[in-house]
Amino acid sequence: MLKFLGRGSAFTDEHNSAYFVENDELILIDCPMSAFQRLKEMNLALYDHIYVLITHTHGDHVGGLGMLIDLLQFSVKTPVTVIAPSKEVEADLFYFITIVEGCNTAWYELINVEDLKKDWFVRVIPTTHTEELSGKCFGLYLMVEGNKVIYTGDTNTLIPFEEYFEKDMYLYCEISAYKSPVHLYCSDIVQKIKDYVDSGMHVYLMHLDDEKRIAQIMEGTGAEFAPLDKGGDALVDHERMLSRIFEISDSLYKDMSINDRMDHGLLFSYLTDLGKTVVDADRASFWKWDKRKGQIWTMSATGIDKIVIPDNTGLVGKALRTKKTVITNDPYNDPDFNKDIDVKTGYKTKSVLVLPVADINGSFIGALQLINKNDDNGFDDEADPRKLSLAALVCGIALESETFLEDSHHDRLTGLKNRMGFYYDFGGKFKDYLIPGSGKTMSVFISDIDKFKRVNDTYGHNAGDDVLKFTADLLESSCGEKDSIYRWGGEEFIMVMRDTDIEGAVRKADEIRTKLMDCDIEADGNTIRCTMSFGCKFFDPSKTIEENVSAADEKLYTAKETGRNRVCY
Ligand code: GH3
Ligand code: MG
Ligand code: MG
Repeated sequence: MLKFLGRGSAFTDEHNSAYFVENDELILIDCPMSAFQRLKEMNLALYDHIYVLITHTHGDHVGGLGMLIDLLQFSVKTPVTVIAPSKEVEADLFYFITIVEGCNTAWYELINVEDLKKDWFVRVIPTTHTEELSGKCFGLYLMVEGNKVIYTGDTNTLIPFEEYFEKDMYLYCEISAYKSPVHLYCSDIVQKIKDYVDSGMHVYLMHLDDEKRIAQIMEGTGAEFAPLDKGGDALVDHERMLSRIFEISDSLYKDMSINDRMDHGLLFSYLTDLGKTVVDADRASFWKWDKRKGQIWTMSATGIDKIVIPDNTGLVGKALRTKKTVITNDPYNDPDFNKDIDVKTGYKTKSVLVLPVADINGSFIGALQLINKNDDNGFDDEADPRKLSLAALVCGIALESETFLEDSHHDRLTGLKNRMGFYYDFGGKFKDYLIPGSGKTMSVFISDIDKFKRVNDTYGHNAGDDVLKFTADLLESSCGEKDSIYRWGGEEFIMVMRDTDIEGAVRKADEIRTKLMDCDIEADGNTIRCTMSFGCKFFDPSKTIEENVSAADEKLYTAKETGRNRVCY
């Protein structure tokens, strides 16, 4: 049925104008400037042809006509036909469109209603409105979606229309809250409207100069206000939203294909942004739940730095604890809300939605948090979690793979990176050091605890584990910014030192060696002393990683052979 781009009078924000669509043609009734503003937001290129039926030539009915013709001619390229309800109005329209609005006659077609042969058009109905436009004001009789429709246009009488009224017909009737000789005054027609509805007509009121007053007076008549078309807007919003979603997905995909090793922080910031976009929130963050440490921390967040907090705090903690979506549109009165960040940053949190995120086994591993929905009513219990569900699902899968990858690169006992992590880093942060002639220098050492088997044999395996952990901690704490330490296997460790020559590497190895030999290690109730042997090698980029490691290993062997607790290179 008819959709209204505006249903107000000349002095309201949106002037009366309606449209309907038949067979990919858009039929517009009048074209005030406010209707044009909405039309240009719609995708007018979707239609094969646009027809504009004119009821009369007051500015609040034709003020946007010239602009519409311009838009269709120069941008959208959809042909447009303006339909004049009579010969006289046709002449006025010609003058208005060409002389006043300056549109070339080639840009539009202007026809008289007598030449209009369309199934959706029945007739025009002459009526009376202002004296100046006497004989030049018309209502319309149309067929829309198989229904008989009467559209009064601006009128001060219903008499010319009444002969067409019948049951099941749709009447779009103008009405005014203010008494004037040119409009239908609401109190005067209240009974008539009620009778029409009682006789089985569908009555919609339009050209509303004061919706509140008219609603009061018309209460109980069964008439409704003409349905404002949020359709056009909603469509635009949806298109914008989809295009934003595609934009984010596309950038994410491109970044992933360009970088063979995607920065995970970046990956999560894309996914978080996706969540922010689909629910139209001001801020978003994505949290990882580390159950072992009892902590949650931000993998990505807009507007705040990385935060680590205990997992039993805040709204994110609550969502993970209760395994439920948490929504609050009054956070300051929610005991679980932590306002520290607001206090620190001056930001005012007004609404919060936290959606717990699961791995593919369904156990919760993180949460998506959205802050301040751009809507005064805050987050909606049903609609917003539903919109977020796909982003949450993808976040869950991404977080799970990220966690999996991290775990597979680390050794559980010592927490150091393992051999997989070692090779991974050679494909990443050490990559440039593998290029022969790059001028970049790097050294490595392999270290091995001396007579470690004896520790196990004497004090037991748990004590052995404690010694390994202690040694790993010592090695890790000896790492500078450019150094990386790995558990190579068993009681062997390997350190990679970027921008370090062989002397530097030997010095570092010797420092660690002397430090370790002086340490009393508490191991499963025993106090143990240990030494370690080292083999150092200046990294040769013309050789493979394995050849370099073997060369260091040979030096380690020499250290073992020549008495242990020493550094060879
Ligand atoms: P060397 O000075 O020649 O290196 O003598 P070693 O005893 O240290 O060398 P060997 O290779 O004979 O023994 C290494 C031992 O380390 C054997 C193995 O059981 C032990 N080991 C390897 N991984 C672990 C571990 O994770 N925990 C414990 N407790 N022991 C381990
Ligand atoms: Mg050993
Ligand atoms: Mg060994």
